[in-house]
Amino acid sequence: MIKLSKFSSIFVANWKLNGNLSFINQYLDSLKVNPSQLNCVIICPPTIYLNNFNSILKNCYLGSQDISKFESGAYTGEISSKSLNDFGVKFCIVGHSERRQYFNENNNDIKNKASKLIKNNIIPIICIGESLKQKNENKTIEVLSYQINNSIPSESNQHNTIIAYEPIWAIGTGLTPTIDEIENLHYLIRKNNIKIENFKILYGGSVNLQNSREIINLTNVDGALIGGASLKIDEFNQMIA
Ligand code: PEP
Repeated sequence: MIKLSKFSSIFVANWKLNGNLSFINQYLDSLKVNPSQLNCVIICPPTIYLNNFNSILKNCYLGSQDISKFESGAYTGEISSKSLNDFGVKFCIVGHSERRQYFNENNNDIKNKASKLIKNNIIPIICIGESLKQKNENKTIEVLSYQINNSIPSESNQHNTIIAYEPIWAIGTGLTPTIDEIENLHYLIRKNNIKIENFKILYGGSVNLQNSREIINLTNVDGALIGGASLKIDEFNQMIA
């Protein structure tokens, strides 16, 4: 398993359902990752293209956007954590709000997925986040604590699991909490949930070239999960530089 403690910042590029072969070739030709040991850059393309990255990626890591909660068996269409190993995958996003919302994933599913990943030496990036309604009802802390308590498996620790705090209302909308709100929420996530106090906690939700430096430099933020802006290679190169 990759040693997380050596990184000061972690950048996850979540391509979602975007990209094709020619896009990948152009992207990889242009991607510039400094061989510094301090930044961890993780590219998560659609699963079908994982093999196109295997052994080509330099100075960065391959991640999956999701995985089956099952190990093997009669589950048509599913892909197991174990098979990700064959393609050099070191990280996997689980519990993204789009999976929770459109594919009815619940905290228990996410816990099972994370557990299978850890068993197969892949680091789960477990996403948590509140909706706009929950935020407006002042339920953010309550919602996040519930997700933390119910989606993080008992075997998770600061060495084998990453958390990504992604307010649902900020994903793909261009809206973000203020810088102070992000720092304060990350602080509270750690302090209210002792079991994840020392975990790497990333922020996600409309991170772009304009706001990334300020967000990444916050004391309690260990990196960013980047969707839309990670597809713009020039912008992404500058963010990870
Ligand atoms: C995401 O994909 O989790 C995400 C945060 O997307 P965006 O950066 O586009 O808001």
